[in-house]
Amino acid sequence: MLQLPLIRDAKNVGIMGGTFDPIHLGHLVTAEEARQQFGLDSVIFVPSGHPPHKNSQKVSDMEHRYLMTVLAVITNPHFTVSRVEIERSLKGPTYTVDTVKWFQNYFGPKTQVYFITGADAMLDILTWKDYEHLLDTCRFIAASRPGYSFSRLRKTLDKSISSGATILDRVSYLEIPAMAISSTDIRERVRSGKTIKYLTPEAVEQYIIKNRLWQ
Ligand code: ATP
Ligand code: MG
Repeated sequence: MLQLPLIRDAKNVGIMGGTFDPIHLGHLVTAEEARQQFGLDSVIFVPSGHPPHKNSQKVSDMEHRYLMTVLAVITNPHFTVSRVEIERSLKGPTYTVDTVKWFQNYFGPKTQVYFITGADAMLDILTWKDYEHLLDTCRFIAASRPGYSFSRLRKTLDKSISSGATILDRVSYLEIPAMAISSTDIRERVRSGKTIKYLTPEAVEQYIIKNRLWQ
């Protein structure tokens, strides 16, 4: 299902989960900065299937989101895309904890898995069922994002975690160049005929136009 022969023996791997509806430069800059600062051999982008927490919103077809993600990462030799959540979502809702375990199992104990999130998504995780269990499964990289402060995230983490310092140690903070870009804003721009140039790679922009997404 997943062919990553070049990185199977990687020491450090980053997993970047997301809806990627569409993928944009905020995602790419975050992944690249995490790769460099944490010495990751690769970053694997994992587009969600039908995300349980985004049920109420209409999310684009997962094959569109997958293809846009492939187009966006094609020029970076350290980036790749996995269909693991897409394939699994055909059988029911997908959960991050299962995805992380799937990759740990795939790479084996010699590889350290990092889950990369923005500060907003990290705050979200703290509201999920069994989040302590999830935090216990791998290391987390929480990246800065305009509008979400690290100090609030630190306070929330401190308050939420009952089992102490070991889990808190698993979250690292990553300051990235501020990119006030969101997929929501890109979709709204397309709907109202505004430009999305330079917010997402050109190939993704072309894909959106060609497939008339959100028009
Ligand atoms: P939406 O507006 O539809 O929620 P989004 O821009 O937040 O889209 P997601 O696919 O929800 O994108 O995000 C995937 C991951 O990327 C999350 O961990 C999110 O926090 C992170 N992320 C998204 N945009 C940025 C950004 N501009 N800076 C830093 N992190 C980001
Ligand atoms: Mg989001």
